[in-house]
Amino acid sequence: MKNGWEAVIGLEIHAQLNTETKIFCGCSTRFGDEPNANTCPVCLGLPGALPVLNWRAVELGARAALALGLQLNERSIFARKNYFYPDLPKGYQISQYDRPFSERGTLEIMTAARDEGGHARDWRPMTIRITRLHLEEDAGKNVHEGLPETDRYSYIDLNRAGTPLAEIVTEPDFRTSWEAYDYVNHVRRALQWVGASEADMEKGNLRCEANVSVRRVGSEKFGTKVELKNLNSVRFMQKAIEFEIERQINLIEAGGAVTQETRLWDDRAGETRVMRSKEEAHDYRYFPEPDLQPLVLTSDFIARVHDEMPELPEARRKRFMYEYGLSYNDAAQLTSEHTLADYYERAAQTSGNPRGAANWIRTELLRELETDGRTAAESPVAAEELGALVRLIDEAKISGKQGKDVLVEMFKSGKTAAVIIEEQGLAQVSDAGEIERLVGEVLAANPKQLEQYRAGKTGLMGFFVGQVMKASQGKANPKLVNEVLSEKLKA
Ligand SMILES: [Zn+2]
Repeated sequence: MKNGWEAVIGLEIHAQLNTETKIFCGCSTRFGDEPNANTCPVCLGLPGALPVLNWRAVELGARAALALGLQLNERSIFARKNYFYPDLPKGYQISQYDRPFSERGTLEIMTAARDEGGHARDWRPMTIRITRLHLEEDAGKNVHEGLPETDRYSYIDLNRAGTPLAEIVTEPDFRTSWEAYDYVNHVRRALQWVGASEADMEKGNLRCEANVSVRRVGSEKFGTKVELKNLNSVRFMQKAIEFEIERQINLIEAGGAVTQETRLWDDRAGETRVMRSKEEAHDYRYFPEPDLQPLVLTSDFIARVHDEMPELPEARRKRFMYEYGLSYNDAAQLTSEHTLADYYERAAQTSGNPRGAANWIRTELLRELETDGRTAAESPVAAEELGALVRLIDEAKISGKQGKDVLVEMFKSGKTAAVIIEEQGLAQVSDAGEIERLVGEVLAANPKQLEQYRAGKTGLMGFFVGQVMKASQGKANPKLVNEVLSEKLKA
């Protein structure tokens, strides 16, 4: 960012809650069904149809709120947000307004600046204030299909109308596009982790909008803000914010003024474009939804949701660092996904070497999984088997190098490490007598080097180790070879 300027960014996320049915009727929320297959009088907005609240949506909303550090309100009110749009058959959306489901969140995230190549450097904690998380229904979709000028047609698909959403609004606490980027990724992971939402931006079940303004450093007053929409991925959002900050600063420095408006991100052009100005802004005429009672959460309900919450990623990351002695990066990667964290813990316990297990999973296992496009939950190598492999290496039954080949074989064949070692005759020679015999042979075969070594050229140690390893066809236990050699060379 240009010297002397500061950006002020607030974010709004809409996350589809992972229910099987819609929030006010029993229609399926399945993605990809025939257009309008999942509709009924309630979500079609037919006269006389009444909404009935789906408590699963309330439960998942509560999980989401707790995962993001919000306070649940014991009493909240559904409200009608009135506007006309083809994809909104009732002419209003049931949302929440002045009495939302949850408020006053504080969330600690990790964020980092990025270098030119986009690599993160210096992760640091940052606290974000979340204003509110409320429940609402989604609208339908306008669909435009066919070729232009020949058989182009448009229709409304109301399969999505009435799908439960959590709207999550932050205070304007972000100063850079990367902070916003790290926050959205944190929220996505947290929602997935507690099972509240699939939070998949490609499927459209997580959408975000950003409010961006700039001001001179030291100024208390906010600049005029621009709302960014159509941010179809976290990376697009980051690029759109970055572009917008630059655009606003240049505009003001050239003597112009920022207009309050809504802009869209055009990724092909790499710029934001005006969608609508403030004059066209809606007045939603909110009022309490007369067809729904106030939403009351009993203390029993809140206690039960609390009890059913899994350990959250941040807590688990900290525990991995403390309990298993992992670095921040190791712990963060292993807690990036629920099933991976579970996998790691089981492998760590079987191996008796938590740091070793972390290394093997991060470097070897994840690479194999990635090649196959699988998650840890789908790994053909069970966590306990990976732990057993780490143990075999620690016990010097095989070398680390052999271990890598064994793991690849485990991956392919589904056999255990022990079986593969047996079948391929890989077990290391850890028999001291056998190693002494090999060492004796090597020393006898290389009298010149032995003489040089004894004359002070101790760098030849590596040469002798190499010769012994070669004589054993790579099977000698290197640690034992070193010990036996040191002993014999002294003699
Ligand atoms: Zn319905």
